[in-house]
Amino acid sequence: MATLQTDAYVCLNKGDPLVLSTITLPPLAATEVECDMVCCGLCHTDCHMTNNDWGVADFPMVPGHEGVGIVRALGSAVKTHSVGDRVAIAWLRDSCLTCDACMCGRENLCRSGYQGTYLGNSAGPFGKQSYNTHGGCFSKVMRISARFAVKIPDNVPDDVACPLLCGGGTVYEPIVDYCPAGTHLGVAGIGGLGTAAIKLAKLRGVTVTALSSSPHKKSAALAAGAKDFMCIDDENDLKACAGQFDVIIDTSPANSQPVSKYLDLLKFDGIYCRVGLPPAANQSFSYNFLPLIFTQKKIAGSIVTGNARMDSMLQLVSNNLDYMLSDNPDMNKIDKVPFDQVNEAMTSLINRTNKGYRFVLYW
Ligand code: NAP
Ligand code: ZN
Repeated sequence: MATLQTDAYVCLNKGDPLVLSTITLPPLAATEVECDMVCCGLCHTDCHMTNNDWGVADFPMVPGHEGVGIVRALGSAVKTHSVGDRVAIAWLRDSCLTCDACMCGRENLCRSGYQGTYLGNSAGPFGKQSYNTHGGCFSKVMRISARFAVKIPDNVPDDVACPLLCGGGTVYEPIVDYCPAGTHLGVAGIGGLGTAAIKLAKLRGVTVTALSSSPHKKSAALAAGAKDFMCIDDENDLKACAGQFDVIIDTSPANSQPVSKYLDLLKFDGIYCRVGLPPAANQSFSYNFLPLIFTQKKIAGSIVTGNARMDSMLQLVSNNLDYMLSDNPDMNKIDKVPFDQVNEAMTSLINRTNKGYRFVLYW
């Protein structure tokens, strides 16, 4: 098989706007599928990466990791897919497939380090040379390991699927790990991940309170399924919620709140789980051992999800599509925009002027 040229939105240097360019995909490997890409969600991670906030980026870079595509060619060894299948391509493009984590569909925890969709050499074991230039979903055609081209249930529309592929999976992971039905969950940061967390947790019988720094998001959070809304900067709200939550999932891309603020909101035994990833220069926090010991509270972190949970999340959504498509106008504030508006969308996400909770970019 030969290399293939295709169009992609490329970030040439740290902080640069993306430009539409021709890129070259390497030959299709026996275990890979080739996909025509339809659309892609814009995750805040794409903004962190193009600005090299975490120091793990290589340029040029083709970002994007919430892609939906249609399989158009199969590598010679692929038996699992057919031409025409509609598939999801997310943050992982490959993993060792043999370690205990991979064997049970938790490839996000692969012991050799999963291969990030567009992580290059600077990401150590998580990237390979040239994935940064041809890997991401902001590309018209993609070639990717069949194992990581996850089939999407037929009834789930593209724009409902996209925000779930990274954002949804990332919050589904701690919801499955820590939130049995009846849990009182606080979701901090009501953006892409936070909105997905409210919806997915509600579908699993979890009671959600939205914890936000934006009072104007109250009606959208309640419409998405939160039972309550509290403003994280309001002393009265904080007092009213002290000691109320079993679990808090914090999706903020900044490190602007003291961890103690969230730990004070937990019940004894409660879990504060961080998924939002602040820039490298601002990732530390401090807390005292004593209150942890005397309350048995836990501080945790979580990274995307593996294929087993990706499948079960998509199935949950497929089985409850009416809820996901509720005619409540606030439920589906996805901003569908053409790909040539990708730079405006990224600027708006960084400046927090976005109106919907996720941009979905269409070719
Ligand atoms: P997003 O759509 O921009 O939402 C983030 C929300 O956090 C905002 O809507 C806002 O909610 C709150 N926030 C508080 N301080 C903020 C600030 N200084 N700037 C922007 N938002 C702020 O982002 P996202 O796509 O949900 O991603 C959130 C974070 O999760 C990012 O850091 C991303 O890289 C990370 N992430 C991690 C994983 C993982 O596997 N761990 C996977 C995907 C993404 P309120 O207005 O309600 O306060
Ligand atoms: Zn993401």
